[in-house]
Amino acid sequence: MLARGNLTIVDAPRPTGTDPGDQPAHAHGLARLWKRLLAPAAALLVLLAKAKGLLLLLLHAPVLGFVATLGLSFWFYVVAFGWRFALILTIVLVAHEFGHYAAFRGYGLPARLPNFIPFVGAFTMGAVPDDLEHDAYIALAGPLTGLGLAAACATISTLTADPLWVAVAYFSAVLNLFNMIPFVPFDGGRIVRGICPPAGDPRSPHHDRAARLRVTAAYLGTAFGLCWIVFEFHQSIARHA
Ligand SMILES: [Zn+2]
Repeated sequence: MLARGNLTIVDAPRPTGTDPGDQPAHAHGLARLWKRLLAPAAALLVLLAKAKGLLLLLLHAPVLGFVATLGLSFWFYVVAFGWRFALILTIVLVAHEFGHYAAFRGYGLPARLPNFIPFVGAFTMGAVPDDLEHDAYIALAGPLTGLGLAAACATISTLTADPLWVAVAYFSAVLNLFNMIPFVPFDGGRIVRGICPPAGDPRSPHHDRAARLRVTAAYLGTAFGLCWIVFEFHQSIARHA
C-alpha cells in the first residue's frame, strides 16, 4: 500500500485459504483460531490503553513503529497460517513496501518506514511529488519490486527443488498483480493518474504526452510480467496445495 499525508491505500488483501497446510474450516476450529488471535490483541489493547505514551512513541518513532508492526503482523500470520506461509507473506509485503520507500527517497522526498496491519496489508507514507510522472513511478515501485522478487525466486526455483521459492514467486506475483487494479485505493489507481491525468490536479498541465506514454509502457510491462509469472506457476502451486 502506498500512503501520502492522511491518505492511505490498502494494497495487500488478506489471503484466505492459500496456505497449503490449511485444513477445511469448521465452526469449532474457527472459534479456536479467533480465540488465539483475539487474546493477544486484547492484551495489546489493554497495554496501549494503560500506556498511551507507548502508542505515541510508535507513531513518532519510525524505526520502532516499523519493527513493532512488522513483528506483530508476522506473529498474527504465524498463528493464522503457520510460520511457512507467514514468512512468505511477510517477505512479499516488505519487498513491496520498501519499493515505495526507496522510490520516495530516490526522488528526494521525505518518507516514513513502512507500517504493517495484520490481515490488511501495509502502507508507506511520503510527501506528494511535484511531478505526476514521479508520482506514478512511486506507486509503481511497489509492484515492480514485487515483480523483481518474483522473478528472482522463479529463477532460483529452477535451480533448486525447494517449493518455497515457487511459493514466494507465485504469491508475490499474485498480490502485486492485485495491486495493479487501476482504481484507487490500489497502486494501479495512482499509476493510471500518470496515464490519464485528472482534470483537477495542478500537475496535469505539465504532464505531456511523452510522459503519459512512458507511464503506460511501465504499467503494461509490469502487469504483463506479473501475469506471466502467475500463469507460469499456477499449475505448480496447485500441485503442491
Ligand atoms: Zn503499494
